[in-house]
Amino acid sequence: MPEPSILENVRLAPYSTFRTGGPARYFIEPSGEDELLGAFRFAEEKGLEVFILGNGSNCLISDKGFDGLVIRIGKLMGGISSETGDDGLTYVTAGAGCLLSRFGNFCADMGLEGAEFACGIPGTVGGAVFMNAGAYGREIKDVAVSVRYLENNEIKEMDASSCGFGYRTSVFAKKAENGETPVILSMKAALPKGDKDKILAYCAELKQKRTSSQPLDVPSAGSTFKRPEGHFAAKLIEDSGLKGFALDDSGAQVSPKHAGFVVNNNGTASAEDILRLIDYISGKVFEDSGVRLEKEVRLVGEFGGKR
Ligand SMILES: Cc1cc2nc3c(=O)[nH]c(=O)nc-3n(C[C@H](O)[C@H](O)[C@H](O)COP(=O)(O)OP(=O)(O)OC[C@H]3O[C@@H](n4cnc5c(N)ncnc54)[C@H](O)[C@@H]3O)c2cc1C
Repeated sequence: MPEPSILENVRLAPYSTFRTGGPARYFIEPSGEDELLGAFRFAEEKGLEVFILGNGSNCLISDKGFDGLVIRIGKLMGGISSETGDDGLTYVTAGAGCLLSRFGNFCADMGLEGAEFACGIPGTVGGAVFMNAGAYGREIKDVAVSVRYLENNEIKEMDASSCGFGYRTSVFAKKAENGETPVILSMKAALPKGDKDKILAYCAELKQKRTSSQPLDVPSAGSTFKRPEGHFAAKLIEDSGLKGFALDDSGAQVSPKHAGFVVNNNGTASAEDILRLIDYISGKVFEDSGVRLEKEVRLVGEFGGKR
């Protein structure tokens, strides 16, 4: 079996939409499942911790980087195909490295209904399954029928009903919290045929909604916090007078356009700067409203000596 093409000392900032992140000690973007298995063998031999990265659109990566192996599941593992089922539904299979927007557009172009929400989310299919990503009233759990994944060097398949999908979580996220490293390989979705013109118009409408309400031209990781039960994070932050707020001139700021987004103006803030602001926001909102905000953004690597 050929050796996996593992790189050393790779800066992670270009692989995160927040544009922060020091170097990964080792880094690979596998070309397929064989190379992925080879990468895990390499990590095992060297006793390295492994982190699975998608498009880095929900990660705040430490300025110190990651002292292990980062496996980025990118477009080399991002094929997409479809087949018609006997039940009249169309089954779309997308590799984990396929961009979610590509999946959404692929479905819309085929006149398939129900994946329009995916068009504007800047993650990969793998990251979206892990997070049960969603928008405008729909989530991955509404379209997925099964997920293929790698666990302990074995390829497995799970019905969507067993994937533990909840608000911005899945069984894969829970496994990762328990120190396991499952790798999502692909998702199969089932969608009915609809009116293609209406579907395309709905995609355009959602895109327009996003452009007008979100700071898409500034580095961020989307919503910084999860939606607290019975509240909206952006509203609580705004009520605390923090819309547009910055602690200093590092570049880390609560977006003046959408208080739910912490942005990294000009990409100049460090991950520590951003985390300091996130912690400040949580503290102030708790003081003012009694509501504890939980981060949606995932921290990668070490922060102030802690993980
Ligand atoms: C401008 C902007 C708008 C956004 N809007 C939305 C929105 O409307 N709705 C929404 O839900 N999210 C939104 N997000 C957040 C983000 O796009 C989603 O959470 C997305 O699903 C993350 O996918 P990713 O590939 O970037 O994952 P990453 O950020 O790379 O990783 C996120 C987590 O998933 C894990 N992971 C990634 N790929 C795999 C894999 N193949 N196997 C196992 N684990 C994996 C990682 O280990 C990590 O813990 C937005 C982000 C931005 C920047």
